[in-house]
Amino acid sequence: MASSGQKVVLITGCSSGIGLRIAVLLAKDEKKRYHVIATMRDLKKKDKLVEAAGDAFGQTLTLQPLDVCSDQSVKECVNSVKDRHIDILINNAGIGLLGPIESISMEEMKKVFETNFFGMVRMIKEVVPDMKKRRSGHIVVMSSVMGLQGVVFNDVYTASKFAVEGFCESLAVQLLKFNVNMSLIEPGPVHTEFEMKMMEDVAKMEYPGADTDTIRYFKDVYIPSSMDIFEAMGQTPEDIAKCTKKVIESTRPRFRNLTNSLYTPIVAMKYADETGGLSVHTFYNLLFNFGPLMHISMTILKYLTCSCFSRRTISPN
Ligand code: NDP
Repeated sequence: MASSGQKVVLITGCSSGIGLRIAVLLAKDEKKRYHVIATMRDLKKKDKLVEAAGDAFGQTLTLQPLDVCSDQSVKECVNSVKDRHIDILINNAGIGLLGPIESISMEEMKKVFETNFFGMVRMIKEVVPDMKKRRSGHIVVMSSVMGLQGVVFNDVYTASKFAVEGFCESLAVQLLKFNVNMSLIEPGPVHTEFEMKMMEDVAKMEYPGADTDTIRYFKDVYIPSSMDIFEAMGQTPEDIAKCTKKVIESTRPRFRNLTNSLYTPIVAMKYADETGGLSVHTFYNLLFNFGPLMHISMTILKYLTCSCFSRRTISPN
């Protein structure tokens, strides 16, 4: 149970990756300012978290089952919190989906929206009334740079994160009136199981319904480029946890928080041309015309990304 003065933080999707790292970082806060309720849909997966939490487990970190796709599970979890008092909600649970749309069933697409978008909405609907009543709270949502910029072959995942961004941008205004803050964390690539799960799926799948050219562009052009991007630009889940901690500890938390300064030029490019032509054609050229040069372009981009870009992002350091 939280002791007085401690902030109660509820985090979704703590069995691995970013959620696990945020839970551990906050639970190990030197000043013990947080009581972390780390949730996951299957408690059998708790070992990695328990091990990483060490002495904090059972003290500043407790576990609860929570499936963001279930109304009942969300309600039961929030009801289990003393007085339903949650100071900070971190919506982190999410799934990816990659590949040509012709070979993805509508059911799979809906599952992505059910988890990434409606899962977040379900959580927010459950905690917001209490936060409004108390005139205090902070809702943090793990969005993605793909919530700002579409990425080829990530059509449905990107759409789910655009939905997240639109929802939060709209709600943030109303919540401010109740002194409840809303923040989006927008990482670029992060080395977690997320990436591994998607790459494993890619290797297994045969992509029925997609023509041979599309499959070739996906497997032989997009996937190698994507691996290059992950290698050149990838952050660690610890980086994202540190950025998130900075956001929740800020006296005036920013609404948008890109974590990777290498993506600032990409986002700037989008807003530099409201017709959309600049981004569509740049991505087209990068992928199909300069594919072999991708690795070099990534390295150049890394060096070009100077401190003026870094200032626009939240840095883990
Ligand atoms: P992981 O796959 O490591 O973690 C995802 C977590 O979400 C897991 O704990 C998973 O649980 C959980 N989850 C999935 N479905 C549900 C559900 N229905 N209810 C509750 N929990 C669920 O990936 P990441 O840590 O990388 O991803 C975390 C967030 O970060 C996601 O929202 C993702 O979109 C976002 N993100 C990730 C990036 C990356 O490159 N990795 C980049 C930008 C954003 P289980 O173990 O049960 O599957």
